[in-house]
Amino acid sequence: MEELESESSTIITISDVLEYLFCPRFIYFMYCLDIPQHEENRFKVIKGRDVHKKRQMTNREYVRKKLNCISKESEVYVVSKAHHIKGIVDEVLFLEDNTAAPLEYKFAEYKDKVFSTYKYQLVLQALLIKENYNIEVQKGYICYTRSNSMIKELAFKLSDFKKANDIIKDIIQIVDKGKYPQATKSKNKCIDCCYRNICA
Ligand code: SF4
Repeated sequence: MEELESESSTIITISDVLEYLFCPRFIYFMYCLDIPQHEENRFKVIKGRDVHKKRQMTNREYVRKKLNCISKESEVYVVSKAHHIKGIVDEVLFLEDNTAAPLEYKFAEYKDKVFSTYKYQLVLQALLIKENYNIEVQKGYICYTRSNSMIKELAFKLSDFKKANDIIKDIIQIVDKGKYPQATKSKNKCIDCCYRNICA
């Protein structure tokens, strides 16, 4: 697996990557200018509530049996110095074919496609699991608790891991070097953004 060619000791979180995917400038305002988002808009707070709700909603034993996994670990905190990233994996599933897979619960309905933020959350978790457990990770799962615990499987390509590493590299550049990033391409995200008054 390719590692980041970086001397940096900065370690970012999976949540940082999700914020970056929403708009790269969030990272700049939070880390370089030290301007926090308003509490009610904070992605992490929303995510925290999400975790609480999804715990209430899901029969996790049922999900595990459905995926034929041999064993699992829950709420695993993993760090990778090589990839400069850390985060929590809802569940690490150890599968019959001697591979592992991350499983992420979403308090959400499935609406015809898997969002790219969900996808990259799984890809980053896969990187972390590979390194920490020294095991192959070829796929990941999302459980949509508001669609009757529907499970979607995502098979990872090499290009997914490469893109994840490129994203991490870009975020490290912003944090370490204060590089001012491009704005999001979806201008409708700017309408309610707490940074819109200072974002040029
Ligand atoms: S105003 Fe738009 S471009 Fe600027 S930080 Fe907010 S979402 Fe990003």
